[in-house]
Amino acid sequence: MKGRSLAKNQQVLVIGLGRFGRALASTLGSLGHEVLGVDASASIVQSCSAGMTHVVQADATDVDALRQLGAEEFPKAVVAIGTDVQASILATYALVDLGIPRIWAKAITAQHGAILERVGAHRVVFPERDMGVRVAHTMVGRTIDYIELDEGFVLIETTAPREMAGKTLLEAAVRSKYHVTVVCVKPPGGKFTYATPETVVHEGDLVLIAGDIKKAEAFAAIE
Ligand code: ADP
Repeated sequence: MKGRSLAKNQQVLVIGLGRFGRALASTLGSLGHEVLGVDASASIVQSCSAGMTHVVQADATDVDALRQLGAEEFPKAVVAIGTDVQASILATYALVDLGIPRIWAKAITAQHGAILERVGAHRVVFPERDMGVRVAHTMVGRTIDYIELDEGFVLIETTAPREMAGKTLLEAAVRSKYHVTVVCVKPPGGKFTYATPETVVHEGDLVLIAGDIKKAEAFAAIE
């Protein structure tokens, strides 16, 4: 990646190009970041090279190999190795050793995550666990999507309950009656717009609500 043209903070090193690493790398690419993908497997590197600008084959547990790639110049790196826990830990350690300022690492178990934190990862993510939680929540009531922003505080995308149809948010008394905040409303086929007290909600509209998990789920479960 000599002669990089983008701002330095737009450069990301992605170690491990399995399903998670590949999706992450291509999304970062479409967001305008310059990504260097690294994988130990020649066949993975070959299959990725069509869709990614910079992909190299290297063992990311080898700090010298990473140094040769110029890894220490990256402001951000992601260790997207999951299955091989030892390789994930050693690669994270190598990136910490190189002094990379922001390191994300994927963990497959709680113990794995705790070790990655101890080793020096700045942010540990648990994609399988988090997706399982998220999908379970979308199976409850009318919840379409669910994001836990903080312990017990969620954003839920759901359809408006029938009892709100034809009312403004003020008339529906969403805050005092349901104890949630409607953030945005989207009519079928339309676009999300920010909610105001005057926003009228129609049956079938999508609403994005924020609030305490129990209250938000109760709102999404109203018949
Ligand atoms: P996913 O579940 O997202 O598919 P995996 O853990 O199965 O993730 O895949 C991780 C990728 O990391 C694989 O493509 C594997 O070749 C790569 N990998 C494993 N060990 C190393 C290593 N030491 N250096 C670089 N890449 C590695």
